[in-house]
This record gives sequence, structure tokens and C-alpha cells, in this order.
Amino acid sequence: MNRKTAKRFLLLHIAAVAAALLFPLYARFADFLSFGLPKCLLHDVFYVYCPLCGGTRAVEALLRLNLTDALRCNALVVAALPFALVFYLRAWRRLLRGESSLWRAPAWVWIAAVSVMVLFGVARNVLMIGFGIDPLGDLWPVWNGSPRACAY
Ligand SMILES: [Zn+2]
Repeated sequence: MNRKTAKRFLLLHIAAVAAALLFPLYARFADFLSFGLPKCLLHDVFYVYCPLCGGTRAVEALLRLNLTDALRCNALVVAALPFALVFYLRAWRRLLRGESSLWRAPAWVWIAAVSVMVLFGVARNVLMIGFGIDPLGDLWPVWNGSPRACAY
């Protein structure tokens, strides 16, 4: 086992545990922690969703074991979980085999991941703007011209 790689892998786990422990704090105080800056430029300035909009709420729902709510907030985050698990288990296997590059993946994997993200982002905005389908519910009032739009 490569000591340097194992050390980095251990540090990654420490960071992940710290992030998991701090996540409830972040989720609760996200507005305060953004210091008045837009949390998402596409959402706050252009009134469209980026592929990650609702991701924090989806993770929060997953931590409450509420899969329906997580899917409503951001289906991409939920759909990515099995792939992330496979990626993580592959990293463990590589570490145990003594390989130095734990996270390496063929280029097509990254291209497919980015393509899916872009398609998801386009699809959720087409559904919202074109058909009024907005499971997250943040932006449809803006496009619908309802009085609630004034809040944004
Ligand atoms: Zn966003």
C-alpha cells in the first residue's frame, strides 16, 4: 500500500466526516453564511435552476431518510448516490491493491457525468418554464407572474 496515497485517503475521510458533522449547521444557516451573496447565480439572477439547485435540501432530506422529498428537491443528487458509492468502493479496492491513483476514471465517465448534469439542468428548466412543472417550487412563481414573485 502506498503510504502517501493512504494518508491522502485518510484525510479525505476525515474531511468527509467533518463535512457530514457540519452539514446540519450549514443547512440551517445557509442564508446567513452566504453573507448576502447569491447562493446560485442562475437561480438568484436569471431565475433558472442550475443542475445543483436544491442539492443542499436534497441532502438534508436524505439525512432525514425522506427519499420523496430528496427526489423533489434534486433528483440528480439522489441518482448520483449509487454511482458515488461505486466510485468510492473502487477507490478502496485500488488503495488495497497499492495503486496510487484512486479516483482515476476513463474520460467517457467524466464526459457522461457532465452531459447528464447539463441535460438535467436543461430539462428541469424546460419543464418549469414550458410546462409549469417545478417540483422544487422556488422559481415557478417568478415565471408565472404570481404575487409571490415579488419576494425574489
Ligand atoms: Zn443553482
